[in-house]
Formats: sequence, structure tokens, C-alpha cells
Amino acid sequence: MEIALFTCLSDNYAALLRDEATGTVALVDAPAAEPVIVELERRGWGLDVILVTHQHHDHIEGIPSLVARYGAKVVAPRLAEQALPDADRFVGEGDIVEIGALRAEVWETPGHCTDHVSYHFASEKVIFVGDTMFTMGCGRIFSPPPEKLHASLQRIAALPGETQVYSGHEYTLANARFCAHVEPDNPQVAARLKSVEAARAAGIPTVPTTIAEERATNVFLRATDVAEFAARREAKNRF
Ligand SMILES: [Zn+2]
Repeated sequence: MEIALFTCLSDNYAALLRDEATGTVALVDAPAAEPVIVELERRGWGLDVILVTHQHHDHIEGIPSLVARYGAKVVAPRLAEQALPDADRFVGEGDIVEIGALRAEVWETPGHCTDHVSYHFASEKVIFVGDTMFTMGCGRIFSPPPEKLHASLQRIAALPGETQVYSGHEYTLANARFCAHVEPDNPQVAARLKSVEAARAAGIPTVPTTIAEERATNVFLRATDVAEFAARREAKNRF
């Protein structure tokens, strides 16, 4: 599996993934059409499938133009049907999506919003989590109660440590500062804040991350229970 991550709009990421065996190409989320087209042309790739994680505007706006240009099939969460009535397939928990010879299992990961799904490529140890989780952070809760996002995050955190996690935004500098504020005595958080500052100053993405790194430094995964998680999420909104 070849993966190309690139920036869209101001801080969104989109990812292209290509099955090397068949040349099949999928896009995970379409914040805007133009940067996707630029990346596809640069690589000489077509676009076969668009995988949608959730219905927020900054994840779907590019879909109509990309479908018109490439004839890509749209795979969308079952609960996003009203926002994406023209999708070719609606998916929910346990469904399998095939990208050439690659197989992704659909996980329903609600909490940021009701319809949110993640796409887990178990054989490749890669998961696309949209706005459920970020590097050193997590999405805002638009779909309470906080139990839902907490459960989604705990499920993702239980994946093998080497699993690579692709998320939908570059929010890591602010997230790392918040993690250092919450856990001032955690040396791994302090070290990671430094490396994130250096990466962002150099314009280097901090996505993907790994489950192992997140377990060590992401204070939303590290909360001991739902109440602590909810308090941290609230505090982050005001940080
Ligand atoms: Zn969102």
C-alpha cells in the first residue's frame, strides 16, 4: 500500500492510497478537489474510490468535482446518507471495503459526530480515523455524551502499537502544548512537544502517528475514566 498525505484548505489533510498490485487508488476524505487533482496528476494516478469518514463540510466539499472528473465511486457512512444522497455505497460497522486487493474494515467511531466511521486496514496496520482522533488530540464532541467518543478512542488505542494513524487535521502543535499542560511531569510528552515544535517549524506533517506514541503522550487516550476524559476535552476547548 502506497500512501500520499497532503494538505487541503488551511489545516485539513487528505490521503491517497494505492494498491500496488492492481493500481487501484482511493482517496480518504475530500476537503477540496483542486489539491487532490494536483496530487493525482503529479503521480499519474486515476481515482477509483472516495472513502468518506464523516459528513462535515471540510471533508466532503471536493466530492462532486472529483466524481465528475474521475468517475470515482463514493463510499460514505450509513448515517451520512442525508448529506451525501448520491454516494454509491453506504457502510457501517463491520462492512468490508476493497481497494483492489486491499481490504478495509469499517469501524463506527461516533462522538465527534454521529455518523463518523474509521477505515481499518488490518493487514497493513493502518487506520484512517478522520476527526475522531488527532496526533496528541481528539475531535470536538458534537455528538454527546462524551462516553461515545471515549469508547471510540479506547477502541482505536487497543490496536497494535505499530499501527499507523492517519487523521484529518494538522492540530498537533496546539494539542502537544495542551498535553504538556495536563501532564507536566511526563518526559515523553515533553520530548514530543519539542519534536513537534521542530517539525512544524520546518513545515513537516505530524500525521501519521502510531498507536504506541499516542498511548504514551495523548492525554485523551491516557485519561483514566470517562469523567477525566470529558473534563480534559472541556478544558481543551478553552485552552
Ligand atoms: Zn469533523
